[in-house]
Amino acid sequence: MLLNNKIAVITGAASERGIGRATAACFAAHGARVAILDLDRHAAAHAAQQLGDGHLGLAVDVADPQAVNQAVAQILEHYGRIDVLVNNAGITQPVKTLEIGMQDYDRVLDVSLRGTLLMSQAVIPAMRANGGGSIVCLSSVSAQRGGGIFGGPHYSAAKAGVLGLAKAMAREFAPEQIRINSITPGLIQTDITGGLMQDERRHAIIDGIPLGRLGNAQDVANAALFLASDLSSYLTGITLDVNGGMLIH
Ligand code: NAD
Repeated sequence: MLLNNKIAVITGAASERGIGRATAACFAAHGARVAILDLDRHAAAHAAQQLGDGHLGLAVDVADPQAVNQAVAQILEHYGRIDVLVNNAGITQPVKTLEIGMQDYDRVLDVSLRGTLLMSQAVIPAMRANGGGSIVCLSSVSAQRGGGIFGGPHYSAAKAGVLGLAKAMAREFAPEQIRINSITPGLIQTDITGGLMQDERRHAIIDGIPLGRLGNAQDVANAALFLASDLSSYLTGITLDVNGGMLIH
């Protein structure tokens, strides 16, 4: 039990086959009580129920400061503390540079980048008051290799922004024992592609993965568990690749 009695907040954790959901289940199995924040109230509540007793599901758009602050206040009222935040909510879009509309740009950046900032701003005072905490941010291999997997350039930019933000926050809050680290998954089999990824493309990607398979949500959840727990107590500001060796260099 690596997270016994810890309180963990995970954004975007309602999606059935998603990384957030697998992370929530993994954390709960390790003794954490988990607050699941996602867009739909029923989906969030259902996902929390499925974890067993003592978990919470709340409706939040992570890009909306008021909704974020209200949700974090509710979590603090309920549990009294927050030990772990996983900034997992994210959306993507398979469009090229010349096709990126301003609404698409805003939405893709807002969910990943603004959402990561707002959620971190909301939980850090509570972590500070508790003497520390761990924040895990979901970036992507797309940030490191300039896309070319599924998402467009605005997605790569959002996820590269997450890396910079996480590193700068890690530097700023290390003296207060708040560790902030990022995970850069390769292609993980979830529903984020909305069924738009062609088999041919998928096979081409697998050909470039030394471990010879796509990732699954549990692969990423295990990495999040490591970063959330005291196993990683001397790590902050790192980028943990979970990509089957796709980016060995
Ligand atoms: P997913 O689509 O299965 O889940 C994403 C969840 O985020 C959904 O439940 C969705 O409702 C929620 N969400 C979307 N916008 C939100 C908002 N504004 N506020 C709150 N919740 C919101 O996706 P996934 O594949 O599990 O991805 C999880 C994270 O991992 C994302 O940040 C994604 O960019 C990142 N990632 C995924 C992959 C991959 O191949 N699946 C690779 C690299 C990085």
